Amino acid sequence: MTEDRLPSQKENFAEWYNQLVLKAELADYAPVRGCMVVRPYGWALWENMTAALDRRFKATGHMNAAFPLLIPMSFFEKEKEHVEGFSPELAVVTIGGGEKLEEPLVIRPTSETIIGHMYSKWIKSYRDLPVLINQWGNVVRWEMRTKLFLRTLEFYWQEGHTAHATPEECQEETLRMLEVYANFAIEDGAIPVVRGRKSQSEKFAGADNSFSIEAMMGDTRALQAGTSHNLGQNFAKAFDIQYLDKNNQQQYVWTTSWGLSTRFVGAVIMTHGDEHGLILPPKLAPYQIIIIPIYKNDEEKSLVMPVVTRVEQELAGFRLKTDPREEVTPGFKFNDWELRGVPLRIEIGPKDVQKDTLAFARRDVPGKAGKKLVPQAQLEAQVAEVLQSIQASLYERALAFRRAHTFEPDDYDELKSLVEMGWVFAWWCGDAECEARIKDETKASTRCIPLDQERGQGTCIVCGKPASERAIFGRAY
Ligand SMILES: [Zn+2]
Repeated sequence: MTEDRLPSQKENFAEWYNQLVLKAELADYAPVRGCMVVRPYGWALWENMTAALDRRFKATGHMNAAFPLLIPMSFFEKEKEHVEGFSPELAVVTIGGGEKLEEPLVIRPTSETIIGHMYSKWIKSYRDLPVLINQWGNVVRWEMRTKLFLRTLEFYWQEGHTAHATPEECQEETLRMLEVYANFAIEDGAIPVVRGRKSQSEKFAGADNSFSIEAMMGDTRALQAGTSHNLGQNFAKAFDIQYLDKNNQQQYVWTTSWGLSTRFVGAVIMTHGDEHGLILPPKLAPYQIIIIPIYKNDEEKSLVMPVVTRVEQELAGFRLKTDPREEVTPGFKFNDWELRGVPLRIEIGPKDVQKDTLAFARRDVPGKAGKKLVPQAQLEAQVAEVLQSIQASLYERALAFRRAHTFEPDDYDELKSLVEMGWVFAWWCGDAECEARIKDETKASTRCIPLDQERGQGTCIVCGKPASERAIFGRAY
C-alpha cells in the first residue's frame, strides 16, 4: 500500500495546508462553494476546544442560551455601521413554504441584533444586570475567497453577548473575555498570542473598540484567533435596551460581544504542523495516545495483545486508541498517525513483552530522536509527564518562532523589506492614512496595538509624526 505524499510545507505552505486538512480527515469540501463538512476527527478536535472554552465561560459567570438562526432584515438596518459592515456578506431568505416573505430573513452572520432585540424585552431594571450569555452555534457570511476552517461561508463558533450598567464594567468584561481567549490559546492550544486592540479600520462593525488575540502561523502570516468587542451603547440605542437605575432614571446599557470560531482549528494546524502532517497539542488532541501492536504471526500476537489490553486499562484516563488493522504494516500506521498529529505513539512488540518495556515515540520530535524504550512500570505517570512535556515544548517552539520573525524596523524602507519575513512592530501615529499606505504598499494590515507594551514617545514609522504606541503590522489570513 502506498501513500500519496503531503506537499512540502516549506515549498508550498498553502497547498500543504489544504491537502493536510483533507488527508488527515479533518474536513472536506461541501457541494455548495465555500462550505465545509467537518469530519469526525476534525469535530472531535473542535469539541475539545469547545469544552475547554465552555468551562472557562462558566467559571466567569456566563450561561449558554440559543437564539434563532433567522433574523428579520430590518434588524440589521437599525445599527448603521453594523449594516454597512455586514450587508455584502448576508445570505437572505426571501421565500418560505413556497410563498414570498413579507420581510426577508437574514441567516445570522452574528447575533448582536436579535439578541439586542431580546435584551430590550428582558432588561428593565438595574437588578437585571449584568446579563452574561453565550451561544454556541453556526453562522453564515457570504465570503468570496474561502479556505477550509479559516474562511468558509458557514462556520461554527460561540458568541458571547453581555449587558452592563456602566462603561467601566463593560470594558472590564471585554478584557476579561480577551484574557479567557488568550489563556485558552496558550494553555490548551500551545499557541502564543498577542493581546491587543484593533485599529479603528479593523474593528468590528458597530463596536466602539475591538480587541483580539493574534497568532503567528508557520509561514509567518498572522491569524486573528479570537475577538472581544466593546460595543459601547451603540446596540443599546439601536435596540432601545434601557433600564431604570437606582435613582429611577432610564439609562441605556453597555454591551459586549466576543467570539472564537472553527478558525482556531486552522490556527492549531498552521502553528504546529510539520512536513509529516499535524502535530496536535495533547490538551486538545482527539487521541492523545495511539497504541500500535507489532507482531508477525499468531504466536507473537498472542504474546503482544494481552499486554496491549493491560496498557489500555492502565491508561484509561487518557484519550487513547489502539490501531488493530492487520491489512497494513506498522510502518504505514506510524505515518498515518503522524499525519493525524497524535502526540504520543506507543509501540508494543514481542521483544517488549520479554523485556517488560514499551517504545514511546513523540510526535513533536520526529524520527529516532523522539523515540525511547521505557519500562512498563508506572506507565500512567510516565505518559502524563511526556504529554506535559510535548504540550510545553510546542508552546516554546512556537514562541521562539514568533520572536525570530518579529522585527523592529528603524524606518519605513526597512519596514517594507522586513514585512516580507514576518511581523513588524513599529510606532504608529494612529492615522488611518498611514495604515492604508502600509497596506497598499506591502499588503500588511494592522494586526493589533499590543496591550502589553512600553508606551512612550516615538515617531510614526510612516509619516514621522509623534506616536505614543506601537502596532504590529503583518500579512494575515
Ligand atoms: Zn503616521
